[in-house]
Amino acid sequence: MKVLVINCGSSSLKYQLIDSETEKALAVGLCERIGIDGRLNHTPAGGEKVVIEKDMPDHKVAVSMVLDALVNEEYGVIKDLREIDAVGHRLVHGGEKFSSSVIIDENVIAAVEECNPLAPLHNPANLIGVRACQAIMPGVPNIGVFDTAFHQTMEPVAYMYGLPYEYYEKYKVRRYGFHGTSHSFVSKRAYEMLKLDPSDSRLIVCHLGNGSSISAIKNGKVTDTSMGLTPLEGLVMGTRCGDLDPTIIEYLAHAMNKSLEEIMVILNKESGVYGLSGGVSSDFRDLDAASNEGNEKAKLAVEVFSYRAAKYIGSYIAAMNGVDAIVFTAGLGENNIVVRRQILEHFGYIGITLDEEANNVRGKEAVISTPDSKVVAAVIPTNEELAIAHETVALLK
Ligand code: ADP
Repeated sequence: MKVLVINCGSSSLKYQLIDSETEKALAVGLCERIGIDGRLNHTPAGGEKVVIEKDMPDHKVAVSMVLDALVNEEYGVIKDLREIDAVGHRLVHGGEKFSSSVIIDENVIAAVEECNPLAPLHNPANLIGVRACQAIMPGVPNIGVFDTAFHQTMEPVAYMYGLPYEYYEKYKVRRYGFHGTSHSFVSKRAYEMLKLDPSDSRLIVCHLGNGSSISAIKNGKVTDTSMGLTPLEGLVMGTRCGDLDPTIIEYLAHAMNKSLEEIMVILNKESGVYGLSGGVSSDFRDLDAASNEGNEKAKLAVEVFSYRAAKYIGSYIAAMNGVDAIVFTAGLGENNIVVRRQILEHFGYIGITLDEEANNVRGKEAVISTPDSKVVAAVIPTNEELAIAHETVALLK
């Protein structure tokens, strides 16, 4: 099957056309500046990137430009749009309504809309993408794959905040978790690669990228994950602060005479390792370079990141009463040797030993612990688009 995977934001639309048999992307691309002016970046597999500047007043126009690019004589990858069997959409927040992927119909759209207040920036944009595909590709099934779904196995003990219970009932305030598609994909691959029994294993998956989250997966089910009601909770991230004493929000609002909204922008966009490093960068490649040149704040930012990650891993080892494997994925988890070392150094007490040579790996599968390590540590690249294509095919079979 050929599955068009779409990740739609408010002014952008990322896509991949994936052949589910070969598991390869036939083309990848990005529509940018939708509603502003419009630019399509399209790259056919093995070919050169094509940039098309053309007005994109809305997402419908963007989707039709993507389809035109896919069948273009010069840089297209299919002859006829009828070759596209289904569209898989990334949907960010499914609340408590969705614990797995779904074939999208009007009822599903209404249920996702009910979750909009929980993800006001993402869900409405995701649905605009769905509507655009429905309009332009009638008869082609649309499948929704939720960032939150995989984490729905969490028990109340892990997802409840220490707040009045009625806020959960009235306002759905609880921990949901994100990056579920990636945590699910990587855990499944870990069971195969590390020969673990999914029904009898304790796994910790560290999705470390610009946004980062860690999850504890016991016997194939998520028991805890570091992101909460929104993706702001948990680890220190590229520009997000992660866990914080909530009083800081009130304190800073007073100290700087700023509104709540302004403080939230700071916590989401100006904090994390970017803020900690004094604005050097949110990208760890820049932070590593600055640290090597003696920038103390950049060095501290990386250390704070690793320390927080190690604390989460430690708490999940306690939550699962042990751990069989710790797996690293996403941009940083797959590529940053220093961060993996800094994190794993905390776990000598449970007998983890890092194989320095094996840890010298970027972007590919590898076991990075020594053969006699009591717990396996590994790198497994994530592929959220392929995971969405898998889910789409599985639902349609
Ligand atoms: P996002 O959450 O935006 O998808 P990524 O998963 O791409 O983010 O992760 C971004 C981080 O991963 C950056 O800090 C960057 O330093 C690091 N990273 C990504 N690719 C590489 C690479 N090829 N080599 C080294 N670091 C990388």
